[in-house]
Amino acid sequence: MRKLLKILVDKRIIILSLLGVSLYIAISQFHISLWYVLLAGVLLGVVFGKVFCRWVCPMGLIMEMLMSLSPDGKIRQMYQYHKLGCPIAWISGWLNRYSLFKIKLNTDSCKNCGICDKKCYIVAMEPQKFSLYKPSQIRPGDSYTCSKCLQCVAACPNGSLTYKI
Ligand code: SF4
Ligand code: SF4
Repeated sequence: MRKLLKILVDKRIIILSLLGVSLYIAISQFHISLWYVLLAGVLLGVVFGKVFCRWVCPMGLIMEMLMSLSPDGKIRQMYQYHKLGCPIAWISGWLNRYSLFKIKLNTDSCKNCGICDKKCYIVAMEPQKFSLYKPSQIRPGDSYTCSKCLQCVAACPNGSLTYKI
């Protein structure tokens, strides 16, 4: 299961490109109501948290392409823009706290190596506030901003971070 998750995380941009372009074509060709897209994003949010933005959304794909061109200081602004601009991001971000699938830490096996934190853009933005493993800090996976890139889970060398029900 861990292997599969690593493959998916490695190929996330390809998956996002395929799903994002397919969704865009479906919306424009078959005139799918955006209410259905919103409903789908929310249902995904109930099960997986805020996965829509980074795994499915055509706009998310464009944002990522822009972010890859941007120097570090702009990344935060981009994300703020993204979450301000989209009701799927608002609702599924809020659902991060209540979704069935969650990022969990096994404190017994964690070696405090910090690799996970280095992969997380939320920790990079606010390192004093968030951490995936430091007990005194807030877990970014439950925060509104976590878009379930799952880089943290894939990078943990001993499986102390998991993403499951
Ligand atoms: S999935 Fe992990 S690395 Fe990605 S934003 Fe959420 S907490 Fe950070
Ligand atoms: S990468 Fe894994 S072992 Fe290292 S601090 Fe994070 S959870 Fe702990």
